[in-house]
Amino acid sequence: MSHYPIFADLHGRTVLLVGAGKVAERKAESLLKAGAVVRVVAQKLNPAFQAWQSEGRIIWLGGVFHDFYLDDVFLAVAATDDHGFNQRIFHAAETRGKFCNTVDTAGLCSYIVPAIIDRSPIQIAISSGGTSPVLARKWRQIIETLLPLHTGKMAAIAGKWRSRVKEKIDGMEHRRRFWEHLFDSCFNTLTAQGNLDAAEAELSAQLDGYRPAKGEVVLVGAGPGDAGLLTIHALQAIQAADIVLYDALVSDEILGMVRKDAEKISAGKRAGCHHVQQEETNQLLVTYALQGLRVVRLKGGDPFVFGRGGEEAQVLHEAGVPYRIVPGVTAALGATAYAGIPLTHRDCAQSALFVTSHSKHDGDQPDWRTLALSRQTLAIYMGTLRASVIAEKLIEYGRSENTPVAVISNGTLPNQSVQTGHLKDLPQMAENAPRPALMIIGEVVTLRDELKWFQEGNAA
Ligand code: SAH
Repeated sequence: MSHYPIFADLHGRTVLLVGAGKVAERKAESLLKAGAVVRVVAQKLNPAFQAWQSEGRIIWLGGVFHDFYLDDVFLAVAATDDHGFNQRIFHAAETRGKFCNTVDTAGLCSYIVPAIIDRSPIQIAISSGGTSPVLARKWRQIIETLLPLHTGKMAAIAGKWRSRVKEKIDGMEHRRRFWEHLFDSCFNTLTAQGNLDAAEAELSAQLDGYRPAKGEVVLVGAGPGDAGLLTIHALQAIQAADIVLYDALVSDEILGMVRKDAEKISAGKRAGCHHVQQEETNQLLVTYALQGLRVVRLKGGDPFVFGRGGEEAQVLHEAGVPYRIVPGVTAALGATAYAGIPLTHRDCAQSALFVTSHSKHDGDQPDWRTLALSRQTLAIYMGTLRASVIAEKLIEYGRSENTPVAVISNGTLPNQSVQTGHLKDLPQMAENAPRPALMIIGEVVTLRDELKWFQEGNAA
């Protein structure tokens, strides 16, 4: 994090502003709006400053800056057009442990002023960490259009009722849901129309008739890695969740989209290392939902494709817990698309099979005869550890040893890598492949030479 964001209460607090030109005027304007007591050091005052001075809104200390002026101020702003002078002010502030912002000089700032959208008491601040104020302002414009003007009024009413809601409704999650429901209800329309009395009456009625909501579990497919492949339902679910149980395969970028105050629990398992047993995960889902929480079970790819989503849904069904399923882009679709390998193609593959080399019961044998048929594509999940057996059996049952194959690692992610070769080379390729890796077997792999579009190996 480049800067720690805070909103400072400047009411009645003193700010020293050095400079009184156009830029300083803008600074003074926003400082006064925030209730600060502004002391100005400048040779002369422009008309705006003169007006503020005659209204008693600023204090002019004259044209000479003394370091001790900083002693009893809360913040400082260096806004002169003399770089050397600004530098002196900044260093004097640093020595005294005072926050100083030097206009347009990122290196001379211990705090920076973000672009803001003001719907007080709702305020949104956007910062580029001093790297590109223009980009921050561009985002401000975009967000400005998304934020209705009455948002501030809704917040003001909510502020008035906050303690009564707290008295009536136990538990932060339940209160959050009460507010979320209220803001989506006709309370919103009434406030937008400026009918504030009716809006408050609606709030009061909803509070009187309040019943704790039931918990639920949403089994969400997070896709293979690239956060852009999340569905809208998935995004909504992870942003509404009180608690998220996620798999090891869910990318950091996607986890970063979970609401910041939601609890995140790793329920990940990779072949051979069971952090948390499946039964324990199932039990947690039921327990949290019965506590009235909105639980998201976030799984790599699609929950119903080799993801044990079926088993979890059965447990929820038996326990009488309400649940929903949000499908995701499964690895075989995502990784092949980003590798430029179409799963089917009229010239060489009329079908595609999604296969796993793992099964619950060790003795279960795949139907090798079917798997070895020609003119089909195999997408093999969790297969790298068994690549030798797979290649050997497919060749034994009739698939040519020269069938094109690919091993796609970290599909759809910036560090995606793809190896291509022939079926006889598969064990060697799989051994070298970073995980997670998906094996693709079939003539369609050759199309990658032509259709490779995704820039690979861009990992930081
Ligand atoms: N439910 C998931 C699959 C879970 S099984 C889905 O629908 O995609 C885990 C296996 O999926 C891994 O062993 C690997 O074979 C494959 N896999 C998952 N994500 C992948 C990715 N980003 N790139 C390549 N393979 C991946």
